Amino acid sequence: MRRPFVAGNWKMHGTRAQNAQLIEGVLHGVADGSPTEIAVCPPFVYLWEVARLLKASGISVGAQSVSAEAVGAFTGEISASMLKDIGCSYVIVGHSERRALYKEDDALVARKFLAAQTQRLTPILCIGETLEERERGDTLQVVARQLTAVLDLVGVKALATAVIAYEPVWAIGTGKNATPEQAQQVHAQIRAEVAAHDAKIAGGVRLLYGGSVKAANARDIFSMPDVDGGLIGGASLKADEFLKICAAAQVH
Ligand code: PEP
Repeated sequence: MRRPFVAGNWKMHGTRAQNAQLIEGVLHGVADGSPTEIAVCPPFVYLWEVARLLKASGISVGAQSVSAEAVGAFTGEISASMLKDIGCSYVIVGHSERRALYKEDDALVARKFLAAQTQRLTPILCIGETLEERERGDTLQVVARQLTAVLDLVGVKALATAVIAYEPVWAIGTGKNATPEQAQQVHAQIRAEVAAHDAKIAGGVRLLYGGSVKAANARDIFSMPDVDGGLIGGASLKADEFLKICAAAQVH
């Protein structure tokens, strides 16, 4: 009942030529009517062109961030309405790199989530603990705090048109993925937190795992009952690897 979903976060990688090649590879290998929903999230400047290249392919385009503001004197920012205007369907909010490197706090992430939904973009809300927080035994508390900040601003019904990505910070780009059991434990907790507000919404919301997912470990992680797919960084930059991960999400 929850369609598997795999989104590629290209981060600050790529050139026009490399993007075209990557997309060609993905389009070549993707099956028509793929059971897995697929999205790619290129850097802002390439969104327009990538959206054009993927037109009518069934693969969606998402941005990696968005301004919390609607319009105005915010030099360097990109609004949700601009993303919608050029063909985006998704936007990642609260990625740990934005939280850590650009000091985006829970309140700002919640405002970005709201800004996205105001323009009918689907937010992919990233939450997850640092290594220090995990070692202190605070994982579930941290994830609950990050989720609550959003729920307090937008309400649980907003999760009917959102995706949540659990991304343990210690697993991102490090080659150290969470075990399937570790991922399942946190995913079950996230779903339970949502269910405490609304069981129906909890049953429908897609929970992605992110953190060093590769073709070699994707199937084991995605086979967990509360893991509905993945948010993929490094491995989304290679067409064959990304396609294998998308195929592995069909385990449900
Ligand atoms: C990410 O940046 O969201 C991510 C999961 O990265 P990686 O797959 O490279 O760990």
